Amino acid sequence: MSMRARWRYQRTGVRISPTPPSENMPEYSIYKQKQPREHYDPNCIFCRIIEGKIPSFHVYKDDSFEAFLDITPLNPGHTIVVPKEHYRWVWDVPEAGKMFEVTRKIAKAMQTALGTEWIVEFVIGEAVEHAHIQLIPRFADDGHGGAINFAARKQLSKEQMEQAAEMLRKALQE
Ligand SMILES: [Zn+2]
Repeated sequence: MSMRARWRYQRTGVRISPTPPSENMPEYSIYKQKQPREHYDPNCIFCRIIEGKIPSFHVYKDDSFEAFLDITPLNPGHTIVVPKEHYRWVWDVPEAGKMFEVTRKIAKAMQTALGTEWIVEFVIGEAVEHAHIQLIPRFADDGHGGAINFAARKQLSKEQMEQAAEMLRKALQE
C-alpha cells in the first residue's frame, strides 16, 4: 500500500485498490460501504468476485462467507462457498466450523431447490488459491456416472445460470 493509500485507508477506512471498480457496476455502492478486508489478494479471482469487480451468480452472503455459482459448472447449481477474507486453505479460516455450517445450509437448500438428495462436495483447494468448498448436485443421467467426471463441464446459458442461482437463493430464504 502506498503512503497516500495508507493515509486514506487510516482516515476513511476505504482501501485503495490498484484497479478501482467501475462506477457503472451495480455492486459499486456495496463495495464502497464494505469494511476493508484484512486478508486480500488483488490477483485472486475469488477476492475480486467478493468485491464485485467480477460479476457472479450470487447464491448466499453473510458477514464472513459468500457463495456463488461456478462459472464452468459440473452440473446446474454447482456452487462455491468461500470466506470473504483471503485464506489459502480451508484450515486457515478461523471460523472453519462456521464455514461448514454455511455449506450445510446451502446443501440443504440445494436438495430442496433442485429436487435431489444427491449432493457431493469437494474440498480440494487447487483450482483457485482462496479457501473454498464446492457443492455439486447430482442427478440421474447427468453425464457423470458413479463419480464426478471433472472433464464433463456443462454449457449453461446466462439465463439458466441466473435461474439456478435464483432457485437456490429462494430456497435459502425458506
Ligand atoms: Zn482471495
